[in-house]
Amino acid sequence: MVIRMRHTRAHTKNRRSHHGLKTPTVAKCGNCGENHQPHHMCLACGFYNGTLVIDMKAKHDAREARMTAKREARKGEADTAEEENAIPGAVDGAAPDMVDPAKQEVVDAPEVTKTKKAAPRKEQSA
Ligand SMILES: [Zn+2]
Repeated sequence: MVIRMRHTRAHTKNRRSHHGLKTPTVAKCGNCGENHQPHHMCLACGFYNGTLVIDMKAKHDAREARMTAKREARKGEADTAEEENAIPGAVDGAAPDMVDPAKQEVVDAPEVTKTKKAAPRKEQSA
């Protein structure tokens, strides 16, 4: 930054005088007494101006039922997956493809034992 671009402290503070945060205005719900944004539906009960706009309780209950169903489905899925993956005679803690079925013991994975040979260096022609 060049000194020509420098602003005085007063200039900076004058600019920042508009940066203050305002307290949000809230209105009290006539139905349930909860705070809500003015001219907006109450998010707690779903009433606006004394009339029910959205049945928030039914919505909440439906969501709760949906989430429990999803949780149950995931739980059941995990149980069946565990049964499918179980291989008789598999050594604990080893991947199924790393177990030699004849010896019933863990053998080294072929990728691990394979040593990578470095490409031969090109000799510099100078
Ligand atoms: Zn309300």
